[in-house]
Amino acid sequence: MATPYREILDKVRLAFPQPVSDPIHDSYFIHSIMRALDQVDALKTELPILGELVPGDFEEARKSTLPAGPSSVETVTSDLVGYLRGMTIFGHPRTQQNVIPPPTIPSVIGVLLAALHNPNIAWDEYSRLVALAEVEAVGMTAALVGYDPERAGGVFTFGGTGTSLYGVKMGLEKACPDTIHNGVSEDAVILVSDAGHYCAANIAGWLGLGTRNLMTVPTTDDNEIDLVRLEEAARKALTEGRKIAAIIATMGTTDSFGIDDLKAIATLRDALADEFRLAYRPHIHADAVIGWAWSVFNDYDFEGNPLGFRPRTLRALAGACRRIRHLSLADSLGVDFHKTGFTPYISSLVLVKDRTDLHRVARGPEQMPYLYHFGEHRPGMYTLETSRAGTGPLAAIANYRLFGRQGLQVVLGHIVEMAQLLREHLEGREGTTVLNRDNFGTVTLFRAYPPDVDTFAIKRQEFDDPAFRDTLLSHNQWNRKIFQYVHSEAMAGRGVVISATDCYRRTAYGEPIYALKSYILSPFVDEADVEAVVEKIMEAREKVG
Ligand SMILES: *Cc1c(COP(=O)(O)O)cnc(C)c1O
Repeated sequence: MATPYREILDKVRLAFPQPVSDPIHDSYFIHSIMRALDQVDALKTELPILGELVPGDFEEARKSTLPAGPSSVETVTSDLVGYLRGMTIFGHPRTQQNVIPPPTIPSVIGVLLAALHNPNIAWDEYSRLVALAEVEAVGMTAALVGYDPERAGGVFTFGGTGTSLYGVKMGLEKACPDTIHNGVSEDAVILVSDAGHYCAANIAGWLGLGTRNLMTVPTTDDNEIDLVRLEEAARKALTEGRKIAAIIATMGTTDSFGIDDLKAIATLRDALADEFRLAYRPHIHADAVIGWAWSVFNDYDFEGNPLGFRPRTLRALAGACRRIRHLSLADSLGVDFHKTGFTPYISSLVLVKDRTDLHRVARGPEQMPYLYHFGEHRPGMYTLETSRAGTGPLAAIANYRLFGRQGLQVVLGHIVEMAQLLREHLEGREGTTVLNRDNFGTVTLFRAYPPDVDTFAIKRQEFDDPAFRDTLLSHNQWNRKIFQYVHSEAMAGRGVVISATDCYRRTAYGEPIYALKSYILSPFVDEADVEAVVEKIMEAREKVG
């Protein structure tokens, strides 16, 4: 007779995919996935959320305990689907919330396959050809942005933050050789614009540079780094005897799609390295986690316009491209496929122009006695992470193959077209103004104003003139109310899910400018969805009064 443990074990075994081909069990597996998808589907309505909003009880959640006995695949599946209730459907045409894309089917299959067979791409011994997929993704992206694929290298890492961490760490090793052994014993600064991502502060802190060594440089009205102020800051650091660990060029800011002038930054870097006779060339890392995708337009025939974009869209695409085409001037750069590449989280790649730079952060084999004895591909010798999933590379490769250059041009071109259309509508009304007019992405920041305000003059007045401080602040409050109205309407199934930012940027006299925000990333968005935003704002203006 089977012992109790054996009986339970038999049931538990059924919950694993079978190691040896078993078509009957396979169909059980597929059926289980289908059941999960069916349950998710049952949560879908016309609304841009799954089911309805259920407030999470975080206090209760903390008291959770491990169940005493085993459960079944069926029960666990339903439990898991329950966690999706209230999720925003990012692919819904009425979702224009943030830089979160809907993932494609092939990218989800990529993640599923990697989850199923669990390759660890630290080492080809544990991942075989999945390790190759990572190298292919590196090669394709290098060629796309204009790096020499013979020299370039890169690895997938734990997010956009990870890509900048690698960039800055390599820069730190150039400026202060061997800190990886000796620790940081001198001041080295990171320069980044004030519209750059806050991960720069994390990196300064976590690398031991200290956030006091983070120099944030003001931006121009177009949300790009002010080159004069950058030069001042760099000179100040060098004159004081501090080193430059890295200059981070933000190639597509999170809130407004400002793009730094990388070419001018590289020229400045070279001039300062000569003038100060630096023993190293300050490292330039391009935080292109959002902007990288625009590289697909580097070779687009803007004159002939074979895809037939509208003139305004063409201008927007060309406007972004004029900066993005210089990406290859950066020593390293970050790419988030999970932002403008339509994959699930996490799929982030740090690319380096010269892959020998990665050796600066390598460990000696004596530190990893149980790994890497053989095999020819061992990124685990220099990655920060130990185990690395194959999910990111397979998802990235899936979408590169699915879309090709042209497919990406079509999807990006369309969402830029929709963002431009939104701007046309917003600018066509007297009650609204677009704030980031000259940033050519798919994010639009705008403000609404009460009926009696002259919206032609107000933007500049609020921005430049301290006499308008109170007006600005009261309009901030007023726009908050507009947002609350639009948001509650969207949750009730009327209108569109947009978002807002407390500080799109600061006025010349230092006050935060609150902005409403439409971030279009769903390929399903069409003209009617864009018009719905404008109509809802107009309605909100009347309700808020
Ligand atoms: C999102 C973002 C990051 C952080 O990337 P994660 O993938 O969220 O870690 C860094 N920089 C910019 C400009 C971003 O938009």
